[in-house]
Amino acid sequence: MNIKDIIRKDLLEMQPYSSARNEFEGNARIFLDANENPYGASFRGVTHLNRYPDPMQKELKSRIAELTNTDTTNIIVGNGSDELLDLAVRATSVPGGSNAIIVPPTYGMYSVAAATNNVKIKEVLPDENFNIDADKILEAADKNTRIVFVCSPNNPTGNLAPEEEVTKLAEQFNGLVIVDEAYIDFANNKGMAHLPQQYENVFVMRTFSKARGMAGARLGFGFGHPELIKVLNAIKMPYNVNNLTLEAGLSALDRTGIYRSQTERIIHSRELLSAYLQKIKGIKKVYPSSANFLLIKVDEPVKLYNYLLQQGIVVRDRSNMPLCSGCLRITIGREHENEILAEEIQNFFAEAKPGQQQAPQQPQPQQQPQQPQQQPQQQDHSSRTRRRTRETDILADIRLHGRGIADIQTGNGFLDHMLELFTFHSKTDLLIRASGDTHIDIHHTMEDIAITLGKALNSALADRKGMNRYGFLMPMDESSATVSIDTGGRSMLVWDVPFRNQNVGGIPASMFSHFFRSLADNAGFTINISAAGNDDHHLIEAVFKGFARSLKQAVQITDNRIQSTKA
Ligand code: PMP
Repeated sequence: MNIKDIIRKDLLEMQPYSSARNEFEGNARIFLDANENPYGASFRGVTHLNRYPDPMQKELKSRIAELTNTDTTNIIVGNGSDELLDLAVRATSVPGGSNAIIVPPTYGMYSVAAATNNVKIKEVLPDENFNIDADKILEAADKNTRIVFVCSPNNPTGNLAPEEEVTKLAEQFNGLVIVDEAYIDFANNKGMAHLPQQYENVFVMRTFSKARGMAGARLGFGFGHPELIKVLNAIKMPYNVNNLTLEAGLSALDRTGIYRSQTERIIHSRELLSAYLQKIKGIKKVYPSSANFLLIKVDEPVKLYNYLLQQGIVVRDRSNMPLCSGCLRITIGREHENEILAEEIQNFFAEAKPGQQQAPQQPQPQQQPQQPQQQPQQQDHSSRTRRRTRETDILADIRLHGRGIADIQTGNGFLDHMLELFTFHSKTDLLIRASGDTHIDIHHTMEDIAITLGKALNSALADRKGMNRYGFLMPMDESSATVSIDTGGRSMLVWDVPFRNQNVGGIPASMFSHFFRSLADNAGFTINISAAGNDDHHLIEAVFKGFARSLKQAVQITDNRIQSTKA
C-alpha cells in the first residue's frame, strides 16, 4: 500500500497557494508583507488579531506532537474536525466517480462531506451491538471505494471499534481508513493515533470540541502519513484556524488539570446516569457507552422526546437511524442537569403507566421547606444536598478535601465570585445551582444558599471524627479579616464587619451577616469574623477568603478522634 496511490493524482502535483506568512518565516522587526493593518484590531483587548495566523500552526502542532509522541509532519490542524473530513474526501475521491463506505448508525457529516463532493455512499451495517465487521466492509468495497469511515467511540451508539478490525481494514483495503476519535477521551482506551505510523492509509481524527470543552473555538486535528498531510495542507484554506483559536488551543493543552477533572466527572456521571436509567422499567435498553452520551431505547421515543422538551430538556431523537428504532441520544450534562433529566424520565413513565412505576416525589410548592435530601459519604467527606421551597430550589454538592474546583451558578455574579473564592481557598470542590425569586430580590436565594451549603457542610463533616475542628486566620490584603471557626456542632456567629456602603457588588451589605448566620446555624459552626478595610469589595472578599482558609484548616484530618476534652 502506497499512500500516493490513494491520493488524487492531480493533487499530488498541485502548487498550493503561498501566502506571505508561508514565504517568510522567522523574526523580523517590521512586517510589511501581508497587507495587514499595523495598528491592531478595531476593538480593544486583543492585540494580535491584526496579523494573519500561522497557516501551518507550527506551535500548536509541536505541542500536539510532543504530547502524542508523533512528528509535526504527521499532523494536520483544522477548523474543527469537520473541516478535516471534507479535506480527506477531497484529497482522495474523484467527484462523480468515487464512493465511500460508512457503518450506520454513525455521525452524519461523513455522508454530507461525501455528498458535497459528489461521492456516493455505501452503507455496511454493523451487528446488533453495533460492532463493525471488517470482512463485510471489505466485501462491499469496489475499485472506486476511496474511503472507509470508522467512528470510535461511535456517535450515536457510544461503542469503540476494535483495533483488530481497523488494522484488518488497513491491511486489506486499497483506500483511506478514517478513524474518527472525537470522543476517545471518555473511553478507557488510548485510541489509535499510533496506527498511521504503521499503516500509510490510516488517518485518525481528534477534536478539542468534546473533552476539551471548546466546541465554540472550532479546533480539530488529525494524524496521518506525511504525504497525505502535505496534500491536506495544500488544499485547505490558507488561514483555516484563527489566532484566538490557536491561542485557546495552546492554553488548553497546558491546562490538563481542568481537562482531566472534567473528563473524570463526565465519565462518573455517565456511569451513575446509566445505572439509574437501567432501573427505569419503561427503558428497554441503555447501551454501554465509551463517550459523553448515552443511547437509550424506549417504546415511544417521539413521545418521550416531546415530553422532555415540554420540561425544557432537549435530547437527540435518533430513532430514524438504521438499527436505532426507539432510540434517543442523551448527552451527559452537569450533575444537577442529569438529576433533573432522570427525574423527568421517571415522571414520564409514571404518568404513562399509572401504578407500574414508582414516581419520585415531585417538586411541590409548599409552605414548609422539604426535608433536604442528603447523601453523606463518610469516607470522602462529601455531600450533596438539595433544598426546595416555594421560593427557591438550591443544590449544593461539596467535597471537603477537594482541589478547589468551583462550579457555581447562583444567578448573581457577585455571589458566584465570592463562592468561587471560597472554593479555591478552602480547597473544597463545590457545585452550587440556585434558582429562586431573584426578580424580587436576592434575599431568599442568598439565605437559602447559605442554609443549603450549611447543611451540606454539616452532612459532609459526618461524625467530625479525626478532624482538626478549629481553624484560625488573621491577615488579608489592605483589608484584613480575622476569622476563627469551630466546626464542633454548636451554632453561633459573631460578626464585626463594618461596611462603608449599603450595597456591595449589588447585594445589600446586611445580607452577608445573614448569609454567614444561616450557614453557621445549619452547619453547626461557631464562626467569629471581624474585618476592617476601606473598600467594601475587598472587605467581603477578605471575609470569604478568610472563612475558606479557616475551614480548610478545621477540616484537616489529624487523627481518628474527636477533638474535644469531653469526647
Ligand atoms: N466526529 C464526531 C463523531 C462528532 O460527533 C462530531 C461532532 N458532533 C465531530 C466529529 C465534529 O467535531 P468538530 O467540532 O471538531 O468539528
